[in-house]
Amino acid sequence: MRLASILFAALAVVGVTASAADAAKAKQPNIVFIFSDDHAYQAISAYGDPRKLLDTPNLDRIAKEGVRFDRCLVPNSICGPSRATVLTGKYSHLNGFPNNSNSRFDGTQTTFPKLLQKAGYQTAIFGKWHLASDPTGFDHWQILPGQGVYYNPPMIRMGETVQEPGYVTDIITERSLAWMKKRDKTKPFLAMIQHKAPHREWSPALRHLGHDKDRVYPEPATLFDDYEGRGFAVKDQHMTIEKIMTPFDNKLTAMPRLTPEQRKVWDAYYVPRNEKFTNMALTGKDLVRWKYNRYLHDYLGTVKAVDESVGAVLKYLDEEGLADNTILVYASDQGFYLGEHGWFDKRWIFEESLRTPLLVRWPGHTKAGTVNKDIVSTVDFAQTFLIAAGVAVPNDVQGGNLLPVLAGNTPANWRKSFYYHYYEYPEPHRVQPHYGVVTDRYKLVRFYAMGPDYMELYDLQKDPNEMKSVFGDPSYAKVTEDLQKELARLRQELKVPEVEPPSVFGGSANPAKKNQKKKDAAKTN
Ligand code: CA
Repeated sequence: MRLASILFAALAVVGVTASAADAAKAKQPNIVFIFSDDHAYQAISAYGDPRKLLDTPNLDRIAKEGVRFDRCLVPNSICGPSRATVLTGKYSHLNGFPNNSNSRFDGTQTTFPKLLQKAGYQTAIFGKWHLASDPTGFDHWQILPGQGVYYNPPMIRMGETVQEPGYVTDIITERSLAWMKKRDKTKPFLAMIQHKAPHREWSPALRHLGHDKDRVYPEPATLFDDYEGRGFAVKDQHMTIEKIMTPFDNKLTAMPRLTPEQRKVWDAYYVPRNEKFTNMALTGKDLVRWKYNRYLHDYLGTVKAVDESVGAVLKYLDEEGLADNTILVYASDQGFYLGEHGWFDKRWIFEESLRTPLLVRWPGHTKAGTVNKDIVSTVDFAQTFLIAAGVAVPNDVQGGNLLPVLAGNTPANWRKSFYYHYYEYPEPHRVQPHYGVVTDRYKLVRFYAMGPDYMELYDLQKDPNEMKSVFGDPSYAKVTEDLQKELARLRQELKVPEVEPPSVFGGSANPAKKNQKKKDAAKTN
């Protein structure tokens, strides 16, 4: 009798211990990270762009049920570098991936998926990767080679090339959901669902051609920007809708890889409109306006499929009862220009490319319908996911912990300034290398090939469209001095090397030097 009661007590202890462990494990949240490529916040209806470009009900649902971040900034506004920052929680100069042109991700370095995997998470990534080396830290991966293509894309599944029929956004969604359905349901999981869309060349699913019923879109105030008031860099770029968009971008030539049946649908939309365009023989501003409208039809068309994908993921989480214990994140690798300053593309420290959309839902940890205006960043994701999962954060991670921010309790010492650094030059868009400091009101920018003292300063409160540098204006002397100090402090804190790296192809961006080179060349000739 005594023995039996001892045994019973011992079993009870074991039982309690096991169920406590189970409870702790059950608390480890799943992480569903949906990451699109070049998705401008202007193209998510929850962000309230005055042009009301399109409705994104599923993305808006995440904002309604969670937090919409209005000032999520990227450290280096292009595809590969942004992905390397997300994985490592580090800036480009430390994760070794500063540009798309010749960087290769060192897959042996520590990343948050690797640490989650070690902690018992099931991990998988689908879609856009763009880091040259193969993914590491994932139980399963299926990625697009390089930039990937929209129609019938080849993909690489665990090292093997596979042909996938259909539309890229649908394929990435289906493969992600299939993996989630087959997972071991006793363990937490990380699913990274990384879309190609809405990246160039902005090719919608065939079902979305004509989605806007030939709408004439409102124009941004700066569509015909003449770049006065700013320096050489802004005048010298190659990213205007007017001059740089190609006939291929504008769908004046057919997209490759369509099957004959798909091509019929594609032609039925584009061919008559292209014929009408050719007959109009547009020039000047009218031609820019036509290209702008074609661009928005195509770009927004790709976003429609992304929104549907988000809807499918939300539905799955609901049906599986996973919504409550899943951190659902929607973000893009950077922002994008939808005609502001006459541009498409990204790269600049200026608002439309620096800011990226970020929507997060984690019931019980986020308050539904919150709008947050703190300076947060894609560099914060790694640390945040690790802490949420109860995994130790490596000391050299540079981001912050978003968990108190998500809960509406932003710590008093949360960052008030942000360091930005762009490297890639001159191709593909001739944006000069630059770095700078961003606060809630100002941006101090150094285009470093222009000389050691060359800077630009923007006052977002007085000049929200960033049309005029006020650097050198005596009324900003104190502000400038403070920002210069803050910039130096951030560079030291983030361990930025003092000597700037050479630009990708070694070209000098300095117009004075360029002219001197021409004179030298003339002399030697
Ligand atoms: Ca991108």
